Amino acid sequence: MIDTLRLTAEQASELVRRREISPAELHAAYLEAIAARDPELHCYLHVCEEAEGEGIPIALKDVIGTRGIPTTAGSRILEGYVPVYDATVVTRLKARGLRILGKTNTDEFAMGSSTENSAYGPTRNPWDPSRVPGGSGGGSAAAVTAGLAPWALGSDTGGSIKQPSALCGNVGLRPTYGTVSRYGIVAFASSLDQVGPVARTVRDCAFLYSLIAGRDPCDSTTVDLPHPVELPEGDDLRGLRIGVPKELNEAEGIEPGVSAAVARAIERCRELGAEVGECSLPLSAEYGMPCYYLIAPAEASSNLARYDGVRYGYRARAADRVEMYARTRDEGFGDEPKRRILVGTYALSAGYYDAFYGQAQKVRTVIRREHDAAFERFDALACPTSPTVAFPLGARTQHPLAMYLSDLLTIPSCLAGLPGLNIPCGLSEGLPVGLQLIGPQFGENTLFRIGHALEQALGFDPVPARLRS
Ligand code: GLN
Repeated sequence: MIDTLRLTAEQASELVRRREISPAELHAAYLEAIAARDPELHCYLHVCEEAEGEGIPIALKDVIGTRGIPTTAGSRILEGYVPVYDATVVTRLKARGLRILGKTNTDEFAMGSSTENSAYGPTRNPWDPSRVPGGSGGGSAAAVTAGLAPWALGSDTGGSIKQPSALCGNVGLRPTYGTVSRYGIVAFASSLDQVGPVARTVRDCAFLYSLIAGRDPCDSTTVDLPHPVELPEGDDLRGLRIGVPKELNEAEGIEPGVSAAVARAIERCRELGAEVGECSLPLSAEYGMPCYYLIAPAEASSNLARYDGVRYGYRARAADRVEMYARTRDEGFGDEPKRRILVGTYALSAGYYDAFYGQAQKVRTVIRREHDAAFERFDALACPTSPTVAFPLGARTQHPLAMYLSDLLTIPSCLAGLPGLNIPCGLSEGLPVGLQLIGPQFGENTLFRIGHALEQALGFDPVPARLRS
């Protein structure tokens, strides 16, 4: 029997290519792992018992539209919704023969940092099931770590790929805005949303990125990559300059164990030949959060207007049409989307627009320029992905602001439209710590190169201690 816990996508493809295992047998091995471990972890909202394709399986976050397969975005309001078309990323994966294993759990409409906002119950962290896997893409991250998928796709608006990868101890990329199509993705905040890969190794992550990236006529924000994706091979970092943004490494609330592991990884970069220097992103660190929490809810309030009980999913019973709209939205949305719709509608309303949304857009430009200036001196920036390791379920559900702070370090580069890679860099209290590498626009290859070299040098074991046999 195949050990799905240790199998990388690269190894799985090799087994299929050499005909040591058929695609159907590989799919069956994952179904068996899911049957054994998913009742405890709840990574999947929907499992595909059968699939077509001669390639290897993949899990998809449930905000990614899949023809004929339910797509709920973790919300009651999309219960029973079965898309009639595939998202472009799905079309691309299918063209390469990849088989859809299932749809993974997410905070409702990808709003959250722990997967506890899912209407279908939380996902648990494979390292310690009393803890969260991060979010919103906790299902994809936990599935990859627990060997319930060789790799997966997530989506990231303010950290939903990077942060769960950090908390689960795997590799996650938020690509440069505009490199991956959003066509067929359930929209949250359209100027921030990006789809990206979650994998067990940097090479798998880079390869999966190469499969989904590129211009799509159906998404006018996409562009062709200026250069091809390179699968990283080397293990030295000579000639690279890595900047350490002071404010993002010394921010209040970063756990000492996280700081220590990240500092060791940065030191490792120096030993591998990189030139490491300090830099500063003061405005990004101070105003990133408030800026994000105006722009993201404003765009969400507009995007979520379409859920009216008429076109998709859930419809409440009511005497007339207006009451039907109101009751559908009241019963269909959970607390977090409602909170964001209220904040967003307020920020966009006449008389407040300039003071809130307009101002946030200006701040966003300042944040972008501050990053541009840092990249005049450095090829990549390094800091923790999450200020803390995985926290216990329930610890932040009563405190929306405490939950929002989970993304303190991932949000600034998202606002700037820049790529970010999480790679596991050690353990603190027996739980994974993630290093965040931020690149300039289209700088993914540099991130892969650094991530791969560090992965070799650090020798992090991605299999949770409690699952090792
Ligand atoms: N946790 C952040 C939020 O709640 C980011 C979510 C995401 O990237 N989808 O908005």
